[in-house]
This record gives sequence, C-alpha cells and structure tokens, in this order.
Amino acid sequence: MTRPMPVHDLTAMELRARIAAGQISSVEATRAVLGRIDRLNPAVGAYLSVFPEQALEAARGVDRRIAAGESVGPLAGVPIAIKDVMCTRFGATTCGSRILQGFHSPYEATVVRKLLEADAVIVGKTNMDEFAMGSSTENSALGKTVNPWDPARVPGGSSGGSAAAMAARMCSAALGSDTGGSIRQPASFCGVVGLKPTYGRVSRYGLVAYGSSLDQIGPVTATVTDAALLLNVIAGHDPADSTSVDEQVTPVSDYLAGLEEPVRDLKIGVASAFNAGAEPAVRKAIEEAVEGYRAAGAEIVEIDMPHLDYAIAAYYVIATAEASSNLARYDGVHCGYRSENANDYVEVYTKSREEGFGKEVKRRIMLGTYALSSGYYDAYYLKALKVRNLIRSDFVRAFQQCDCIMMPVSPTTAFRSGEKVDDPLKMYLADIYTVGVNLAGIPGISVPCGFDEAGLPIGLQIVSPAFTEAKLLQIARMHEARTDWHARRPPAAG
Ligand code: GLN
Repeated sequence: MTRPMPVHDLTAMELRARIAAGQISSVEATRAVLGRIDRLNPAVGAYLSVFPEQALEAARGVDRRIAAGESVGPLAGVPIAIKDVMCTRFGATTCGSRILQGFHSPYEATVVRKLLEADAVIVGKTNMDEFAMGSSTENSALGKTVNPWDPARVPGGSSGGSAAAMAARMCSAALGSDTGGSIRQPASFCGVVGLKPTYGRVSRYGLVAYGSSLDQIGPVTATVTDAALLLNVIAGHDPADSTSVDEQVTPVSDYLAGLEEPVRDLKIGVASAFNAGAEPAVRKAIEEAVEGYRAAGAEIVEIDMPHLDYAIAAYYVIATAEASSNLARYDGVHCGYRSENANDYVEVYTKSREEGFGKEVKRRIMLGTYALSSGYYDAYYLKALKVRNLIRSDFVRAFQQCDCIMMPVSPTTAFRSGEKVDDPLKMYLADIYTVGVNLAGIPGISVPCGFDEAGLPIGLQIVSPAFTEAKLLQIARMHEARTDWHARRPPAAG
C-alpha cells in the first residue's frame, strides 16, 4: 500500500477537490500548514505575520458549509499566503518597511476580497524587499528570508517571502507582485511556478504602488495548474482600478478549461544572442527545455530582440521615476491609519522619511526625482519612454513569427546572501531577462526546468502576447506534464 500524500504536499487543485468532497477538512489542511509555519518559519523567515485564529475560524466555516451541502467557492478551504504589499483589513500591511510599521489598512485590495469570496483561507502575509524594490528580499527592513534550497542563499525578490513559503510548503498557494520580475525571479530561485499576468488583467486596487505602469499581481504556486486556478479567481475588470481592462474587449478565459490540451503547431521564439548572457548551467537547462518542446513537435524560430539590451536602463529610469512620485505620500507628516482594535480612522504622524525608509528606497526616490527634474526630464525620462516603445515593438514583431518566447528568468541561480546587496548596479543587472516583459506589459511565467551543479533550481521563462494567458499556461503545462522538476522538494521542506 502506498502511503497517502501528506496534506501540505497536495497541490491547491488536489486539496480543494478533497476538501470539497469531504475527504479532508479545511481545518486539518490549515492546521497542517500552520504547524509547518511554526516549525519552519523561524529559520526560513518567509512570513511577516500569521493569522492562526482567523485562518482556523475561516476553515471551520468552510467545513460547516460543505457538511451542510452548501456550495462553496473555487478555493474553498485552501491555505494561501499573500505578499505584504496588498492591503488587508485584518493585520498589518507593512511593505517590508519601517515607515508603514503599525499601519492597518482601512480597506482591502480587490485580490484579497476575491480570494475571500472564493473561500480561500488566508494564513499570513509574506516578507518582501521594502516597497518591492529589490531582487533578493534583503531590502526588507523587517526580517531576513532564506532560500529553502540553501539557507546561505537569497530566495530572490521582491516576492521572496511568497516563493520561500511556497517552496517550503508553508502554504498551498501564494500571491506576489511583479514590477520588473518580482514574481518570476523568486519563483525561479525557489523552484516553484510564478506568473506575471498582462498589465491590466488583475486589479491593482489595494496593491501598494511601486511603479504604477509596471506593477501587476500574480500567483506563486506549486504547479502551472494551480497558477491557472488562482488566476481564474483574481483576474477581471475592477471599477476601482481604471487600468484594469474591460472584459467586453478582452474577455477573461477559464484558464483551467483547455489547460491539458497541448498547443498544436506551436512556434517558439528564441533569441540566442540575448540568452547567451546567462551562466552555462542556466543556458543548458533552458536549451534542454526548448529541445523537449522541439521533440514534442514544436518549431523553434530564431528571433531578434535588438532593444532588449537597453531594458535595464529604461526600466530603472521609469520605475524609479514612478516610485518617486508614488512614495511622495509617505512624507513624514501624515498617513491614514485604522487603529488595531477599533474601526475608527485616525490620522497619525508617520516616521520621517529619514528614519522610516531604508537605503535602497531612498536611493530610488533620489534617482527618480533626478530623472524627472526639469533639466533632465528629456534626457532620461522621455528617452526611457521611447526605449520602452522600441522594446514593446521588438516583442510585437517577434510575435508575428512565434506564439511565445522562451528565455532564462535570471542569468544565475540563487546567489549568496550579501553577495550583491552592497552593489546596487550588480543587483539591477541581474534583472535583464525579466524587466522587458513589464515594460511591454505582456504576460510571463517561470516554470522549474532543472538544477545547477549546486542543486539550486532553474526557471524557464515563457513570454506571450498580451492577454494570451490561457495559451501561455497551456504551453507551460506541456513542459510540466513532460518533466518532474516541479515535484522535487528542497531540504527545508521535509
Ligand atoms: N528587481 C526589480 C526592482 O528592484 C523588480 C522588482 C519588482 O518586480 N517589484 O525594481
């Protein structure tokens, strides 16, 4: 007889099916996850806050409704973690920053509301680089997160907490946010799946803004199927976010519907010259993944992405310019707070920017302010916008020849803690494969595709035209169905 799969090892998809069928209670699943958080989080540091009583209460509610034969939502009873950059009416919302410590949001993000309406059980909020600025979670002012595959390494960032929680199975699924790679890169470093949807597919209402024209919320999950399950819940127009798109024009698909069907006559674009910047182990894993598709009948076409080399420069001008404007509201004078125990809304003074913001946030506010200043606006900001357009047209042109593009997520696997944090430029340069996708506003996914000689996970990035998430997920699923990279567990997940 085979041993039954431990509850925490089930995918969100399997778990929700068993909970709905009454085979496992949500309380049991939630307890299993909370138990793992108790045991593993002190070392991994994935969570900034955990809500055991509230989670168990929600789980009991789901179990009661299932026992009574009532209908429940698509995530009924499934324990989920959210990055602490999304506003919740419960608990604190810190963005990994001292300036927001003690902030209790008077409203909740649309994605949080949607998760709750889908009957998910929110177990806690995860660590991140301060205001999502970083690629290693080392810029958090509130704690350190390590990579479950090797505690001496970073989990990636800025959604490092969500990726580490997922990798160590301290949740069944998680949400992250991605401005320049912050979902895909930590997913790749931690050996899990991360999807950045098309800009406008998911509401940003209640997502604390970093670079508003780039930010997008998306799932961090164990499998491609789970990413589709979560996207089904969070996608869609929101009247509270004017940049979320009209579903009459670009309808939301059922992302689970055609997922198991391989895409016929698939054409994959590869920009070999661009990919050559990755280290050998990463390149090899990507080439093998692409080869797997070729063997299964896909056609590989060589594409030219002449402007992607300028993506980092354009991104760091645009993102910091937007950040300098977005973060101006934390002025050290006032900020709305809801007091913890009452519902009353009070105005209190925040910490000054000097003591409230960390080094990287200050650096970016200065960079952005400089790029927007009247003397330099044309030379930097306007120029960066022009480059953004050229990058966008690189993708549009490429997609005339192929259905998707495959490339690395990051030039390296997870680097060591401390390795890059004192050299911001080095850290920025490692974002070369992810930021172009945000500048173009298109969707991208990271799926596990191998390991390097040190046993660290490697992610394959697949990018597709705007609003083709259904096909993107299908393509990613073809790889997942053929390989078992996603089934490996880090040592810390025992
Ligand atoms: N590493 C990039 C940055 O620091 C991306 C961060 C993100 O996607 N939030 O800006």
